[in-house]
Order: sequence, then structure tokens, then C-alpha cells
Amino acid sequence: MYKYESNELELVFKCPICSSVNYEPEHFNVPDILSTNSPGLWSYVKCLDCESRYLNIRPREQYIYKAYQSYYTHYIGGIKHFIKRFFILSYIKSFVLPRKVSYFNKIFHFLFFLPMLDWFDSKTRHLRIIGCNQIEDLLDVGCGNGDFLELVRSANIDCVGCDFDSVAIKRARDRGLIVSQDSPINIVSKKGSNFSLITASHVLEHLYDPHSFFLECNISLKSKGFLWLQVPNSQSNGLSLFGKYWRGLEAPRHISIPSLKGLMILAQANNFEVYATPIVKSSAIYMGFSSIKAHIKFFKNARLAGDDEKVYMIILRSIKFFYLSLNPKKHQEFITIIFRKIS
Ligand SMILES: [Zn+2]
Repeated sequence: MYKYESNELELVFKCPICSSVNYEPEHFNVPDILSTNSPGLWSYVKCLDCESRYLNIRPREQYIYKAYQSYYTHYIGGIKHFIKRFFILSYIKSFVLPRKVSYFNKIFHFLFFLPMLDWFDSKTRHLRIIGCNQIEDLLDVGCGNGDFLELVRSANIDCVGCDFDSVAIKRARDRGLIVSQDSPINIVSKKGSNFSLITASHVLEHLYDPHSFFLECNISLKSKGFLWLQVPNSQSNGLSLFGKYWRGLEAPRHISIPSLKGLMILAQANNFEVYATPIVKSSAIYMGFSSIKAHIKFFKNARLAGDDEKVYMIILRSIKFFYLSLNPKKHQEFITIIFRKIS
């Protein structure tokens, strides 16, 4: 459990993504859905210019560590993790790495992986779409316990990670991975050359200054280098239906939830163009079930706090969510974008 004192909090007067001061209040009394016993409740507002959402009262940056004390990236999964890893690695070997395979094997692998192709692509950060021949080395920003780096290393791609969380860094180093607490720019200056790919999975929403992140990525990438990003989508079906229990809010660690428009503003200001915008249909399954779980977990607390919450409403909302998710092009749960540095 963690608790914030009032002197550890700050008011936010402008959108962290587009700097607009125009906003409207949207979600109140948002709990930390990963922790039932932390007393703080938070509020998200909607930026009227870029439609991103952001915390309007947030922990000061030097105190945010309190909300990460038992974060899930500190743990390395058990048997489920190893089974998942086995299949993802097979996918990398069959589809991501350039190698000669027989037609029979190609057809077999294609039929085997096809039903979950977008899940495998998302888990391998769309290396297949970028193409391994374009990747000499990779920096994973916000690498946590190093799950992705371990996969990339198994695929024989040079890789380095960085994270601000010292516990997660220790877990990654225990796996023999090269991981640093330095910023991307410092890593590049020590290494002596820029990266051809930077990946950041669910990182941007945790940052106090997304502009600096894009600028750092620009400086740390080679000319025509790639930046792969995945973030929760502020215009998702999940947020409009599950509201404060949507898995993508995760207050107070998610400082802002970007919109596509907001990401484009950041990218254009920092000399990036869009290379691809893959659709990740499978994100609806994870986000839907996690949001329903949060609804159930906080149901009693919500009733005690006077929320007029009914069980049948949660069921109807869940049915509507999965129905709308059948059309994945609209209001996806995640925004996944591959940017390319213009020059
Ligand atoms: Zn904005």
C-alpha cells in the first residue's frame, strides 16, 4: 500500500501531450486498479484540443516511485510465461528472421500462427513488418524485467534496455541482459553510435514529459531509424464504456493517455513520419477482461461510496464492448504506431 500526502501532489494546468490549456473534467474517483488497498482516488480530464486524457492532480515526479513499489514488471512469470515465450520464439524463427524454410514448413507455420497473427506481431513489436534486415541494433525503453529483450537476444539481434525502476533493472540484469538506468541519449554517447530501432511498449503514458521522450528518440536514432510505440488509446471503446475501471487508466502511474492526434503532434514536432499503424485486435480481449475484473474488484467499494452501480449494467457494458470490438479498426484499445525518423 502507498499513500500520497498533499505536499507530494501537484496541479496540472495544461495537456502534457499538446500543451493546450482547454480541458473538461471526465472521470472522477478513479482508483488504482492494480491495488485495492491504496486510499488515493484520482481524476482524469479530457484535452479539448487533442482529446488525450490526463491526470489533473498527479504525484510530483520525485514521488511517483511510491506507486511502483509492487509493480508487475518486478516479477518474472512462471510456467505460463515460458509456454508463451516458446511460441513467440517459434514465431520469430519462422516469420521474423530471414531464413530458408521448406514450403511445407511455411504452410504449416502459416496455418498454425494465422489465427493469432496480430497477437504474435504485437508481442514481437512488429519486427516482421519493419524487417530484420533494417535492424542492426535495438534499444528497448522502459524494458521492465527484460521479457522482450530476452526474446530479441534469442533472435540474435543486438539489444540494450533502459528503465527508471531499479528493481526491474535488477531483474533484467539477473537474466544476463544489458540494461541501464541511463537515458537513451547517454546510452548512445557511451556506445558511440545511434540505434536503428527504439521500442517503447506502454511507456509514453507513464511519462511526465512526452515531448522530451520524442526528442531523445530522435537524437538517439540513426537517419531513417524506427520508433515503435504502443500506448492505451484515449479514444477506445474500453474507456467510453468502462470509464474509471478501464484497464488503460491505471491511476496514478498513467500520467496521460494519448490520442492518435496527440501522438501525431509529438511526432511531427520531432521530425518523425508514420511508417505503419498496425491493428492489434487481440488487445480487446486483454483490456476487456481486465476492465471487467477491475469492475468486479471495486464493485463493493463503489456501492459503499454511493455509486449507483448495478450488476446487470456491468454485464450489458461488457457485451457491448465485445460486440464493438468485432470492428477493430474503430476505437481500438491500443494505438500501435511505427514511426520513422525523416532524416
Ligand atoms: Zn492535448
